[in-house]
Amino acid sequence: MAKKVLVLGETREGSLRNVSFEAIAAAKKISGGGEVVGVLLGDSVADFGAELIAYGADRVITVEHPHLKSYTSDGYGQAFMAVVEQESPEGLVFGHTAVGKDLAPKIASKLQAGLISDVTDIEGEGADAVFIRPIFSGKAFEKVKLKEGIDFITVRANNIAPLEKQERSGDVSSLSVDITNLRTIIKNVVRKSAEGVDLSEAKVIVAGGRGVKSADGFEQLHELANLLGGAVGASRGACDADYCDYSLQIGQTGKVVTPDLYIAAGISGAIQHMAGMSNSKVIVAINKDPEANIFKVADYGIVGDLFEVIPMLTEEFKKVM
Ligand code: FAD
Repeated sequence: MAKKVLVLGETREGSLRNVSFEAIAAAKKISGGGEVVGVLLGDSVADFGAELIAYGADRVITVEHPHLKSYTSDGYGQAFMAVVEQESPEGLVFGHTAVGKDLAPKIASKLQAGLISDVTDIEGEGADAVFIRPIFSGKAFEKVKLKEGIDFITVRANNIAPLEKQERSGDVSSLSVDITNLRTIIKNVVRKSAEGVDLSEAKVIVAGGRGVKSADGFEQLHELANLLGGAVGASRGACDADYCDYSLQIGQTGKVVTPDLYIAAGISGAIQHMAGMSNSKVIVAINKDPEANIFKVADYGIVGDLFEVIPMLTEEFKKVM
């Protein structure tokens, strides 16, 4: 049976997040040839509609309201539920982002629907779709299917390939929703200055641990990451030692990432760190201790001093980039 599937398109700092396009690809599979409808919530988001359509949405519905300028679960919840009531979908797909993780359970409980979170792959299509998600901090994967009701999933960034961007046309319509009774009003958002590529969506991550020894030591990681168009990450050891900001922490209590390439420099490979990066596609570990645990998950291991290896890698990449 072909299904109608709604996809939440997420914007950040004036552009759509990549995970929105990956969510559309997931929705296409769930729809089994049915209709994929993008949903954009914000104070001025209609201009992003065409891009969602170019990535595979058949049409887009926008809800624009001054109270949707910044995310609140009340505001987004009301707006998204109004779209659900209008469209009566058989599937819902959100990114497994901060917004998706907060909003999806709220919507699921309102709809009394099941929710499969943090999906990394989908087998089959339409009624036969089976969802794959990591369990036990990424040490195993389970295949899940909802017995009945809406197929509601959140998708982990960087796992489901987006569809190719194409010249396509589709309707972008707006739905007027009265956003009321907000328990939280966001007056002002003060961001930590974060330059460059978003860690949670980066294709290349150069991560440093306590072995990097200082904040200055992280500079060479930034240089390599910039060269590769990637982002810098860190172990909690490095964050605790104040070599870098906690926003860079990867692991069980930090960010979960799945880049194409993860370079771990001076990181021992504690289980809590590996919970956040072991599903990266290619892992390169640099550690002077040949017994370091990180080598157990590494595709390529370099036993050596990172202060020699990282500059050598940077010089070699400069020759080919
Ligand atoms: P260390 O374990 O000290 O390792 C440093 C490594 O650097 C060593 O292997 C050493 O051989 C190598 N080294 C030193 N000098 C050099 C050099 N010059 N060249 C090359 N290699 C060198 N940790 C996380 O990362 N993320 C989490 O989310 C997280 N959550 C946690 C949650 C809980 C509840 C707990 C209890 C712990 C958590 N931890 C987390 C902490 C985790 O257990 C480890 O303590 C931490 O990951 C260690 O960081 P590290 O590998 O940088 O440091």
